[in-house]
Amino acid sequence: MATVQVKQDQLEAAKKYVNEVYEVVQKRNQGENEFLQAVKEVFDSLVPVFAKYPVYMDNGILERVVEPERIISFRIPWVDDQGKVQVNRGFRVQFNSAIGPYKGGLRFHPSVNTSIIKFLGFEQIFKNSLTGQPIGGGKGGSDFDPKGKSDNEIMRFCQSFITELSKYIDPDTDVPAGDIGVGAREIGFLFGQYKRIRGGYPAGVLTGKGIGYGGSLARTEATGYGTVYFVEEMLKDQGDSMNGKTVVVSGSGNVSIYAMEKAQQLGATVVACSDSSGYIYDKNGINLATVKRIKEVERKRISEYVDEHPEAVFNDNYSDIWLTPCDIALPCATQNEINEVSAKLLVANGVKAIGEGANMPSTLEAIDVFLSNNVLFGPAKAANAGGVAVSSLEMAQNSMRLSWTFEEVDAKLHEIMKNIYRNSVDASNEFGHPGNLVVGANIAGFKKVADAMLAHGVI
Ligand code: NAP
Repeated sequence: MATVQVKQDQLEAAKKYVNEVYEVVQKRNQGENEFLQAVKEVFDSLVPVFAKYPVYMDNGILERVVEPERIISFRIPWVDDQGKVQVNRGFRVQFNSAIGPYKGGLRFHPSVNTSIIKFLGFEQIFKNSLTGQPIGGGKGGSDFDPKGKSDNEIMRFCQSFITELSKYIDPDTDVPAGDIGVGAREIGFLFGQYKRIRGGYPAGVLTGKGIGYGGSLARTEATGYGTVYFVEEMLKDQGDSMNGKTVVVSGSGNVSIYAMEKAQQLGATVVACSDSSGYIYDKNGINLATVKRIKEVERKRISEYVDEHPEAVFNDNYSDIWLTPCDIALPCATQNEINEVSAKLLVANGVKAIGEGANMPSTLEAIDVFLSNNVLFGPAKAANAGGVAVSSLEMAQNSMRLSWTFEEVDAKLHEIMKNIYRNSVDASNEFGHPGNLVVGANIAGFKKVADAMLAHGVI
C-alpha cells in the first residue's frame, strides 16, 4: 500500500489539534490515569489521519469520540453468608454506538473505578471496530472482590448487580460479557436473573454463556487462541513460526490458559505463568491440565502447582516473571504489568515477539522499548480482539437460533485475526509507520468509527 503524502504544515496543524483536545481531556478527567494513558496512546497515533483527512477535525470527531455517550454508576447491596449487608459500586460505560450496540465485558475486581472502566471502554471502541463486526464500545464492572466468596455470595451479588443494570441493557442496545473475575459461573447467574426480570428468552443480552443455553463453542478459548494466532501472523511475516519457541505467559485465568493451550498446540514450550500471588517456572514445560484443574475447577492459587511438579519452582513476586528468558512473551493478566524495566529485561534476554492478551498490559514507556528494539509488538486492541469477535459470533448465532461447530467458529476466529493483522499492517504502512502495529491498529480501528460518526451528523 502506498504511503500517504501529507505536507508538513498539515501535519503540524493536526498535531496542534490533537494536543489541544488532549489538554481538555486531561483537565476534564483529572486523576483518571489509566484512562488518560489509553487516550494518549490512541491520540498520538492519529496525527497522520487528521493531517490527511481534516474533515475529522472540522467535525469534532476526536472531541466526541473521547467522551462516553453515557456512564451509569450504581449501588449494589447484597447480603453475605454471615447475614451482613455489603455494598459495592457498579459501573457501565456506554462509550460509543456509532457502528453497533455497545459491547464489552464486565470486570469484578477491587481495583475497579471510573478510570479503569473508561480506559477499557475507550479501547473497546477501536478493538471492536477492528474485528470487522457491527459492535460499538462499552465496558462495565464492580469493585466487588470475588476471591474467597462462596458460590451463594457470588450468586447474590450477581443478582443484585444485574437487577440494576437490567434497566439499561438489552440484545439490541448493550451486550456485556466476561472479563477479570467474570467467567461462565458469573455470566450464568447474571443471565438467569436478567431473564427472570425481563421475561422471554433474551439470549443475546450477554455473551460467554454456557453452551447448553445459548453460548458459542470456542468463546472460552477465543481471546487466548486469537492472541496466539495474531503472534503467529507476525512471525510468519518474518519467515518464522511458534514452533520450537520458548514462551512466558502471565496470569492463569481465561485468556492465559487458552493462550498457553494454543501456543503448545503450535509446538511452543510454555515455561512460566502466574497469578496475583506469584509465578511458577517449569523448565519441562507447564502442565496445562494441572493449571486448568487448580484455577478453573478448584479456584486455588497457582503456587499449588509445585506440589505436583516438584521440578517446578514458585516465586512469590508475580512481576519477576519477566526475568524469565523467552522468545515470546504474552502478558495476559492485567494493565501496566510490563513497565520500562521489565521491557528492557525482556529485550536483554532476547525476546522476539510480544502479544498483548491483557488490556494495556504494557506501559507507554515499555512499548517504546519494544518498538525501538525492533521486537514484534502485537498491541492489545488487535491481538486480544478474538474474544469480542467470537462474542459477536455468539450474538449472531443467538439471533439465528442455531449453533455453529467448534471448528466453524475457530476457523472464523482465525480468519478474523489474520484480517486484523493485515489491516493493521496496511494502515501502518499507508500512514508512514511501517512495523508499528500500535499506530496501525489505532488508525484502522478509528477510521471506520469516525466515518460512521460523520455519516450520523453531530450527535
Ligand atoms: P481472569 O480469568 O479473571 O484471569 C485474570 C488473571 O490475571 C488471573 O490469573 C489473576 O490472578 C491475574 N491478575 C488479575 N489482576 C492482577 C493483578 N492486579 N496483578 C497480578 N495478576 C493479576 O481474567 P481474564 O478474562 O483472563 O482477563 C485477563 C486480561 O485479559 C484482562 O486485562 C482482560 O481485560 C483481558 N481480556 C479478556 C478478555 C476475555 O475474553 N476474557 C478479552 C480481551 C481482553 P488472580 O487469580 O490471583 O486474581
